[in-house]
Parts: sequence; C-alpha cells; structure tokens
Amino acid sequence: MLRRKLLSVFALYAFLLPGFAFAQTPSSTGSATANITAPAPYQAPKEIIDRIKEEGSKNSQVMRTLSYLTDVIGGRLTGSPAMKRANEWTRDTMTKWGLQNARLEAWGPFGRGWTLKNFDAQIVAPSDIPLIAYPKAWSPSTNGTITADVVYFAPKTDADYEKYKGQLRGKIVLVSDERELKANFEPMGSRRTDEELAKMAEAPDPATVPRNNTGITPERMKMFMDRFVQGAKRMNFLLQEGAAVMVDNSFNGSGGTVFVQQANVAQEIPKSMEEYFSGKRLPPQQKEAESKMIPQITLATEHYNRLARMIKFGEKLKMAVNIQAEYDDKDPMAYNTIAEIPGSDPRIKDEIVMLGGHMDSWHAGTGATDNAAGVAVAMEAARIIQSLGLKPRRTIRVALWSGEEQGLLGSQAYVKQHFGEMKGGDMFSMMAGSEKTLQFVKQADYEKLSAYYNLDNGTGKIRGVHLQGNAAVAPIFRAWLEPFKEMGATTVTLSNTGGTDHLSYDRIGLPGFQFIQDEIEYDARTHHSNQDVFDRIQADDMKQAATIMAAFVYQTAMMDEKIPRKVVK
Ligand SMILES: [Zn+2]
Repeated sequence: MLRRKLLSVFALYAFLLPGFAFAQTPSSTGSATANITAPAPYQAPKEIIDRIKEEGSKNSQVMRTLSYLTDVIGGRLTGSPAMKRANEWTRDTMTKWGLQNARLEAWGPFGRGWTLKNFDAQIVAPSDIPLIAYPKAWSPSTNGTITADVVYFAPKTDADYEKYKGQLRGKIVLVSDERELKANFEPMGSRRTDEELAKMAEAPDPATVPRNNTGITPERMKMFMDRFVQGAKRMNFLLQEGAAVMVDNSFNGSGGTVFVQQANVAQEIPKSMEEYFSGKRLPPQQKEAESKMIPQITLATEHYNRLARMIKFGEKLKMAVNIQAEYDDKDPMAYNTIAEIPGSDPRIKDEIVMLGGHMDSWHAGTGATDNAAGVAVAMEAARIIQSLGLKPRRTIRVALWSGEEQGLLGSQAYVKQHFGEMKGGDMFSMMAGSEKTLQFVKQADYEKLSAYYNLDNGTGKIRGVHLQGNAAVAPIFRAWLEPFKEMGATTVTLSNTGGTDHLSYDRIGLPGFQFIQDEIEYDARTHHSNQDVFDRIQADDMKQAATIMAAFVYQTAMMDEKIPRKVVK
C-alpha cells in the first residue's frame, strides 16, 4: 500500500475518489419498499463453502508462497531483476497449480531497475560507530568508499542556505531534524475492536461527505506543496554545491527499524499551486534523474539523533560510506503477472472476476506485509478454487501488479488497456474537486468485468469489506460474510478506502473492493521498513484471508448477474 502520511502529491492522488460522482445503481425494483420483496442474494451451497474452508486451512500453500517471494526472491523494487523473477516465478507456480493462460503483461515504459550490490556506512572519527542505515532506492553509487567530514545542514530559511554556500563540497550531509523517540506504551500490534467495526458499519455514503471532510483541504494541499518545495530546494542546493552523500533520518519507527523509500531528485520549483499540481516530476527511475541526484542513505533514528547531538557538542565527525548499486537499463518495461481459471458457462464464461494485490515492494525489507501477503493470499484463493475442481461459471483472473509503490502504475495501465480510462483529468482539478474536463474512454472488456477484489493492508486477517459507496452490493456481501462470522469477518462498510489498486477500477466506475483488515503492526513497524519481512507475517490470518477471498471470488463467478455497479449521477 502507498503511504498516506508522507508526502508526494503523486501518492496522494492514489487516495482520491474517482473523477465522477457516482450514485447507487437503482435496484431492479427501484424503490425501498419494493426491496423487501427483492430476491435473496445468491449464496454458494454450504457444502461448497465448507470445502473451501477445509482446503484453505488443511492444505494451505499460502506461507510457502510467501516464504519463496520474500526469503528466496527478496525485495522486489519495480523494474528490478528481482521483480522480474517474481513475475516469472508466480506465473510458473500458478501454471503448476493448473491455472491457465498464465503470462506476463508488459506496461510502461516504467524506467530503470536498481539493485543494491554492496553497502556499508560507519563513523570512523573521532571514534568508530557502526550505523544501521540503508541507501534510498535508485540512489547513485559512490565512487568506492568515500570518507569525509559530516555536516549538519537542515535548512529552514534562505539565510540558512546563504550560510552554507561553499561549505558542502565533498561533505556527507545530515539533512533532517532530530526526531524525539518516546517509550512505546501502546502495543505495536493490534486488532480492530468491536466498537471500531460497529462504527465502520454505520459510516455514511461517501458521496454525501463534503470534500473538505475527506482530508483534502486547501491547507493540506498547501502543506504538500510546501514540503515538496522544501525538499526540492534542498536537493537542488546539495547538487549545486557538490555534496558527496545526503543522509536523512528515518521518518518513523524506532529500535533499529528504518523506513526507507525512493531517492530524492533535484526538481524545478513550482511557482504556483496550479503549477505544482499539474507540473511534471522527474522520478528517480528515469535515466535522466541520475545526474540530478547525489548518493543518499537513511539512518535509524537512534543513530541519526546521536550523530546530530555529537555535532552540536562541536565534535568533528568523519563517516565512511560505500554504496554500490546497479542500474538495469536493458528493459524499460515493467510487468504484471496474470493467470486464469477459465469460465465454464457458455453464456457468461467471457465475463471476468478479478482478484489480486501488488507484488512490487520497497527494498530494505523483503516486502512481506507490503505486499507479498496480498499476492500469496490471491494466489492461494485461486489455488483453492482450482484444486477443488469447482468449475466457476465466469472466468476468474488473478492479477499481481507492479509499480504500485510508484502510484498504482501497473494496475492503472492494465485497467486502461482492458477496461477504460478517464482522459483529460489533471491532478490540480482533481485536488480542487473540479473535474469537468474529464472524458471517459471505454475499452472492449468494460462490460465484461464483474468485480475486482484486492488485498493490500498487511498481514491482518479480513474483518469485512469496504463498499466504496456501492450500497447495492451490501446485501450480497453481508450474505457472503455470514459463514465467516466466527472467523472474525463481519463488517460491511459503505466507506471508501484508498492507497491501493482497487482504486484503478473504482475510478472508472468498476466494482473494485479492498477488504477491511486488522492493522497488526503495519504502520508501527512493517509498512515500507527494513523489518517488513516474513517473520512479521501471521500464518492463521493469511489462511483466513485466502479462504474468504476464495469464497467471495467463487460466488461472484457463480451468481446469475454481475456485481451491481455505481452509476454516474
Ligand atoms: Zn506500500
């Protein structure tokens, strides 16, 4: 999942609602009174649900899949050889399980791959201090080991810049503020409480919530721009002054957990809010970005803070840093892995039910909770249906995305190619809530998709499902959750959730759903950190999630009608 608290407007874009306001699909009878006589929603026979549960608990492969993706393949940065290996391994694994048409679908061009080959960083004077640190993704290499003075430079004003002019050449520069760490009195992991779930169940239709209450306020937009300008100005200065290495402070976590994402690139400074929101950025995976970056690393906060405090005492620090990373320019395209269980009903076998999650990750950990978990669960859900020989009426299609961490890029490209796209929208009008210029271009399969189910909120089990304002689906999903009550999945909420690939569908009015999951340690420990590893995965939660996803997908493939859609007001 993309990170909401932090920054880039591109990431925020992934949380926004579709360009159109959607209303509910009118029920076939069209009025609330008539709904009383509406037929009960389709449900699979109890015997089938029991078999799904049994396969999902007794013969589960979900942890094996997870272990291979995280332990053997490791971190899967989009465009990297490891990501490609994961694409191929998931394709081949699903083929072995008997799924059909398993393939890689290219999208892009995305840019270059990046693989860390060798890295160390430590303080070598006035004493030796080993450091917990990681290079940022797509950081350039250093020219062998650089040993240089450490300077603390966290500029706030133009005067700060003036003061450091001519001071940074060849230096290793600490650019963040110290971050105070408090003792953790709250547990790191938690499950959703009954009260929290009850509140979610009562959430209003998001279409009726004023835009300012969704958190996208003018103040917030300005804050995003200010933060961008500050970062861009700083990188422009470091580059211009010839600094050797940029060092920042992990923005979250403690106890050696380091949260680290992509490298900063020097950027043009936008002159207005409109320019900021519609302006082009140079992302670090573009080849042209290499000359607009300096090598950069992120330090664990305990270590960063210590160095900052030593400098305040007037200590003269020297750091030795060696970053050896390899760019991969052979293939600028990125890939999604796709596989199918073909439909069996001649009337509706061309219709599609999709499920998936994103397979790309950040590089400091092994992308276990974000999001090998979702990948393994989606694969396992398909495996359960396939291994039981259930013969779904519609085609079931698994999609394992890449480029999610860079802004839902893989799913967006897939949806655009197969289903359709909103054209002419720019970020400024989206942020400002005026999307009049949008035009919808439909592709051939737009009418064929029933629904897409996504899992990308970590290792936590499924507690229910977000409807994204699609009230017509509520009775169906309530019926489908019924057999999973004692497994903790009870809640249907009208509310939206953002930050992940179901939005690529939702934005063009296709039913795309993300399940409600327990948070466990997602924001506190794993999400984009060096501790996002296999050992943070909860096996029972993964099995529960795969079982429920299998049941949802299977029933979507079996019902007479497609899942109802939201309609344009
Ligand atoms: Zn993520």
